[in-house]
Amino acid sequence: MESNFIHDIIDKDLEEGKYTHEITTRFPPEPNGYLHIGHCKSICLNFGTAKKYGGKCNLRYDDTNPVNEDDEFVGSIEEDVKWLGFSWDNLNKASNYFDKMYECAVQLIKLGKAYICEYSADQIRETRGTLTEPGKNSPWRDRSVEENLAIFEDMKNGKYADGERVLRAKIDMASPNMNMRDPVIYRVMHVTHQNTGDKWCIYPMYDFAHPLEDAIEGITHSLCTLEFEDHRPFYNWVLESLGWKEAPQQIEFAKLNLTNTIMSKRNIKKLVLEGNAEGWDDPRLCTIAGMRRRGYTPAALRNFCDAIGVAKANSLIDMSQLEVFVRDDLNGKVDNKMVVLKPLKLIIDNYPEGQIEMLPIENNPADENSGVREIPFGRELYVEQDDFMEVPAKKYFRLFPGNEVRLKNAYFVTCNSIVKDEAGNVTELHCTYDPDTKSGTPGADARKVKGTIHWVEASTAVDLPVRQYGYLAYPNEETGKNEFDPASREDLVVKGEPGLKDANPGERFQFFRNGYYICDTVLSKPGAPVFNQIVGLKSSWKK
Ligand code: ATP
Ligand code: MG
Repeated sequence: MESNFIHDIIDKDLEEGKYTHEITTRFPPEPNGYLHIGHCKSICLNFGTAKKYGGKCNLRYDDTNPVNEDDEFVGSIEEDVKWLGFSWDNLNKASNYFDKMYECAVQLIKLGKAYICEYSADQIRETRGTLTEPGKNSPWRDRSVEENLAIFEDMKNGKYADGERVLRAKIDMASPNMNMRDPVIYRVMHVTHQNTGDKWCIYPMYDFAHPLEDAIEGITHSLCTLEFEDHRPFYNWVLESLGWKEAPQQIEFAKLNLTNTIMSKRNIKKLVLEGNAEGWDDPRLCTIAGMRRRGYTPAALRNFCDAIGVAKANSLIDMSQLEVFVRDDLNGKVDNKMVVLKPLKLIIDNYPEGQIEMLPIENNPADENSGVREIPFGRELYVEQDDFMEVPAKKYFRLFPGNEVRLKNAYFVTCNSIVKDEAGNVTELHCTYDPDTKSGTPGADARKVKGTIHWVEASTAVDLPVRQYGYLAYPNEETGKNEFDPASREDLVVKGEPGLKDANPGERFQFFRNGYYICDTVLSKPGAPVFNQIVGLKSSWKK
């Protein structure tokens, strides 16, 4: 992976011999949703860094908050990390450290560095002060160690209702950093935990739990996103207060932000619950499950994350940049197929009625070992509506009355006349073909023809459901916030060459001239595939 400022820090730490054990990182998702492209950046950074230094990377469920969590999410996270091509050294759960965390809290009390406070959550907020004014000391700040220990034990034993008592760190109510103003480190919550059941009715706060989780696992470099920068002094305070040796260090990096999508788990969940997304794996979503179903490849996502790099400053990446990596990774690797997305009938008046001939076509022109198949050709074909213009625009070389084009891997045809319906829409093109222009025969290309278009023979064509995708979201003009675009999916029934009927779920193709497509793993049935558009052939991105 590309070097970055975090690797510079690690290089220096190695030089100075700061750690006696190997470089160790972790990816610590909270199992409260499916992973998205932002997590992908964190996964690539954590696993990639461990790999680069011959160290270790753990997958750790940050499951200290007992609400929100679900086994469905746990399973999906492991699947996603593996699919991206990474494997963890240890699979841990933060909740497995509850005993140790409790011990650490007791130790802080004994050191006179934590106390039981009887304020409600509101009162704590009200006495916390502001950015310009110091907070007020809690009246319970100077309780004796014995009293604190006794109450903390009572808290653990269920003597108090939710919110009646909290354990707070005793630091400095006048600190310019609000996170250092005696933060709550343990609270009462009578909730069953998915891992520890009813063993606990007190739970540690994230800011207290996280440095301990890292330290217990021997993490050397704890990589997190920028919003935790202000939490770093407390992270360090916890480990210093406990006298932790070779304590982990927290390093913050900028979150990945992408245009035209909706990123955080909370907002993605909303799309799913409101029915705007088909599920967490809707191919329009930037969840890893969605992008996998969409046909994006693990290599494309890893290459993208590597290319955007890791920095200290927030930035917004254009969605079309991600698409560049998807397209690059598929380029030349998948078979080509003839598919007409928006069909228009083309009739070759001088081609024998009822005759079908089989024409050879390479499976993948970029791969000489991919072989050749035969596709049917006949008197009636489908071509793209876009490949015909009654009144041609400037530099339009495709079909228009009087013009000759090449039908890919077949013959030259000239459009002679058109048929329209009552509404004035063109419904049929009448053409003649030149039998001497059969593709691959000597002299076939004697005449210069500028346009080559694709086609599908009408009587043998198969109808295929295809889902074309636009961007999931666009910024609201007033708020600038990305909003779901209901037009982000267009359902088509297209005309495809016969062999496509037998596509296997997960199989990717290039539909000639139209883009890359994947046979959907959820909706396809044997003999009845459904296709998702992966990405178009050309970039819409302008630098
Ligand atoms: P969300 O806001 O989507 O719920 P989160 O940060 O709450 O994300 P966690 O499960 O807590 O999700 O995150 C696991 C790891 O992934 C954390 O280390 C977090 O910093 C990182 N992460 C989350 N979102 C991004 C992002 N957009 N870019 C880079 N890293 C991210
Ligand atoms: Mg979160």
